Amino acid sequence: MENQILGLHHITAIAGMAKTNVDFYTKVLGLRLLKKTVNFDDPGTYHFYYGDEKGSAGTILTFFPYEGAGRGSAGTGMATNIAYSVPEGSFDFWINRFEEYNIIYNKPSQKFGEPYLTFLDPDGLKLELVVPKNEDSRTPWVTNEVKAEVATKGFHGVTLTLKDIQPTAAVLTDIFGYKFLEKSGNRYRYITDAVESAAIIDLVELPNEPSGVGGAGTNHHIAFRVPNEDVLMRFREKVSRSGLTITEKIDRNYFYSLYFREPGGVLFEIATDNPGFGIDEPWDQLGSSLLLPPQYEQHRKEIERILPKVD
Ligand code: ZN
Repeated sequence: MENQILGLHHITAIAGMAKTNVDFYTKVLGLRLLKKTVNFDDPGTYHFYYGDEKGSAGTILTFFPYEGAGRGSAGTGMATNIAYSVPEGSFDFWINRFEEYNIIYNKPSQKFGEPYLTFLDPDGLKLELVVPKNEDSRTPWVTNEVKAEVATKGFHGVTLTLKDIQPTAAVLTDIFGYKFLEKSGNRYRYITDAVESAAIIDLVELPNEPSGVGGAGTNHHIAFRVPNEDVLMRFREKVSRSGLTITEKIDRNYFYSLYFREPGGVLFEIATDNPGFGIDEPWDQLGSSLLLPPQYEQHRKEIERILPKVD
């Protein structure tokens, strides 16, 4: 298993207004706000993390919200659809909720024998709820309005849209240890057997589709999970040996990361489980205050003045 990636770690996307983003993901979707911090490279911008109670890998969705951001457009060389696992029988609840909050959604359909319900977040980011074939044993984060029998349990998988799937598929199978599972039309499903959830990557081949343009409502990168820094650095070797350019190890405060652009154009990250989200806040208070890395602490007043209000 040391040679295999442990499914998805997190997905990072770009948003418009910060408050709209927090309201949608915590209230409408019922995720936990795990961390309210700033973009370490641009402290005038938030970085929000959402997920389950402890921010388990495979549940973490993060956003950089830019108040005046123009919308991007999804296209090739991008992650284009984030799928959350939900319990069987929960679609009626979600459809009612989407109606109540004026969320754009499609009527449920099926792919690979699994029912799904597609919807858009307020910036047009495409998400879907999926009832997986195999029961998902993860414990969901629950709220007063989104109870355990309907709540999302973390990622089911993610879709990457590509002009040619082969080079990307080779990274998944030859470096990350994923296997080809099945295909339907131009959608190819890859899965890892190293974990039971957040294990799926769908590759959709659209040779004539324009490249995606980054902006609000688009995904920035997807991160794959490894248990610790030893395994992280072993993957650095493997990626490097395959001829791809990969960064040095970067300290992201809650995990250690490497980044590389896979040949199809999608930015891939590999991230560790350690040290996790409990390092700078008690577990019962995650996300409750603005956390700044040490180098910005002396500028807290200024940063708090610049950042938009979200509470
Ligand atoms: Zn990341």
